[in-house]
Amino acid sequence: MFKSRFLTQKSCSYHIWTQPTGHNTSINIYNCVTRKIEPLIVKNKNAVTWYTCGPTVYDSSHIGHASCYVKLDIIQRILKNHFGLNLVTCMNITDVDDKIIKRAIELKVDYKEVSKQYEKEFWKDLGDLNIPQPDVVVRVTENMPLIIDFIKKLEEEGYAYKTTDNSVYFDSSRSCHSPGRLQNINEIVLVPSNPHKLAPADFALWKSLKNQNEPFFDSPWGKGRPGWHIECSTLASHIFGSNIDIHAGGLDLRFPHHENEEIQSCAFHDNHQWVNYWLHTGQLHLKHSTKMSKSLKNTISIQDMLKDVEPDVFRLTCVMNQYSSPMEYHAELLDTAKNVLKCYKIFLVACREVKQGFIRPVLNNDVLCELLMRSVKEIHEAFCDNFNTPRVIQILNHIVSKMNCMINSAANYQTKTTDNVYYLVAIENLVLDTLNTFGLDFDEAKKLQSEDSTEFINLLVHFRQEVRNLGLQDRNKDLLKLCDNLRDDLKKAGLSIRDHEKLSSWSR
Ligand SMILES: [Zn+2]
Repeated sequence: MFKSRFLTQKSCSYHIWTQPTGHNTSINIYNCVTRKIEPLIVKNKNAVTWYTCGPTVYDSSHIGHASCYVKLDIIQRILKNHFGLNLVTCMNITDVDDKIIKRAIELKVDYKEVSKQYEKEFWKDLGDLNIPQPDVVVRVTENMPLIIDFIKKLEEEGYAYKTTDNSVYFDSSRSCHSPGRLQNINEIVLVPSNPHKLAPADFALWKSLKNQNEPFFDSPWGKGRPGWHIECSTLASHIFGSNIDIHAGGLDLRFPHHENEEIQSCAFHDNHQWVNYWLHTGQLHLKHSTKMSKSLKNTISIQDMLKDVEPDVFRLTCVMNQYSSPMEYHAELLDTAKNVLKCYKIFLVACREVKQGFIRPVLNNDVLCELLMRSVKEIHEAFCDNFNTPRVIQILNHIVSKMNCMINSAANYQTKTTDNVYYLVAIENLVLDTLNTFGLDFDEAKKLQSEDSTEFINLLVHFRQEVRNLGLQDRNKDLLKLCDNLRDDLKKAGLSIRDHEKLSSWSR
C-alpha cells in the first residue's frame, strides 16, 4: 500500500527548485534539491537570513559537533568578510527531548537541570573554538504556544491527523513534495516504527504523554510535547517568515529532519519552497571507524580534544577540508595543519623583520605585483567555487613558500632599510586578511606592537646585541656564552631571539 502511495507522489514537484531573485553573490553553491551547483542568490544582501539547527542539550558536545559548527562559522565569516553580506543568524536549542528526559532519569534530577548544564557547556565549547554566538537563540520550551499554534494550523488545513493515543502526525500524502526532495529516496529506509501512523513517511508533530513522570505541556490534543522537526520549522518561521535564504546543519540532518522541516513549512506557509539553499557539512570520522556516535561510544568531547589541540589547529584542519566532504580525524591531519600554521608564522615574523630593517632582501616588485594580483583573483574564484577553502590554503601556501624563499635566500643584514617594501606589505595584508576571514587570528605583529612590554623587550634585546657585538669583535667567548645563555633563557620564557650577523630580532 505504502509503495503505491510513493509512486503516485512522484508526479509531484520532485526536484523542482525556484531560483530566488535578489542579489547574486557570484558564489556557486551545491544545491541538494537540484543535485547541482547553482548560483547563490540572496533576497537582500543587507539582511541575509541563516538558520542553523542547534544541539539537543543532553550530553557534552563531541568533535563531530565541533567540526560542523566550525565549518559553518568559516562559511559565515566568508559571506560577511569577503562578500560583504549582512547575515542575520539564528539557532535553536532543543531543551526538551527523549534523550534529555532519559538522562535526567539516570541522574535523578529535573530535565531542566540537564538541559541548562549542557547548554552552558555548549556555549563554552563554541567560545573556546572561537565561534561567536548566533544573533538569535531560540529555545523550544520558551516557545511552546508558537509550536502548538503551528501544529493547530496544519491540522485545521488537513495536513495533520490525530491518532487514538492523542498524538498528532503530519500526513505525508498531502505534501507537495515527494519523499527524497533533499536526498535520494533509495538511500533511505523508512521503518514503520509506530502502529498509529498511516504511512511510514508520516512523522510526529505532537507526542502524547506516555509516562506520568515525564515533563509535559498542555495542548488541544492533551498533555504531551512537540516532535523534533516541528520545533525548527516553527522557530525558524517565527524569526524569518515564509522564506529563508540559507538553512544549515550536519549532513546527518538532511533526511529526515530537514526534509520534514521543508514539507511541513511549505504546507504551513502554502508555498512550495521554504528554504532557498540547504547547506550541509560533511561528517567527521575517526580513522578506521565509519561513524562517530554516542551510542557507539567512540566520541571525543570538545574539551578533551582541546587539551591536546590548539583551537586554531583544529580550525585550520576544517579549512583544509571542503566543508561538504567527510573528514577523517587523525594525528597526521593535525600535524599537517600545525606545520602550515608554523610556515605562516615564520612568514609574518620575516615580514616584520623586513619592515623593521633587520633583513633587507632584494625584492623584485614586478614579480611581487604579479603574485599579488594573481593571488587576489584566485582566492576570490576559490571562494566563489562552493567555498573551496582547501584551494585557498593551497594559494596561501604557494604565496608563503615563495615569499619565505625570496626573503631568506636574498637576505643580507645591512642596517639600511630596503626601499619599496609596499608590495611585500600588501601581500602580508592579503595573507593576514584571508586568515582572519577564516577566524584564524595571526595578526601577531600588530598585537605585539600594541603591547606595553614591547619597549622593554626592545631595550633588552638591543643591550644583548651590543654585548654580543663586543664579544664578536674581541673574540671573547665568555661574553658570547652569556649572550647565548640569555637567548636560551628567554626562549624558555616564550621569547625567541634571532641573530643576524650584527643585528638581533625577536618574536614571541
Ligand atoms: Zn532543525
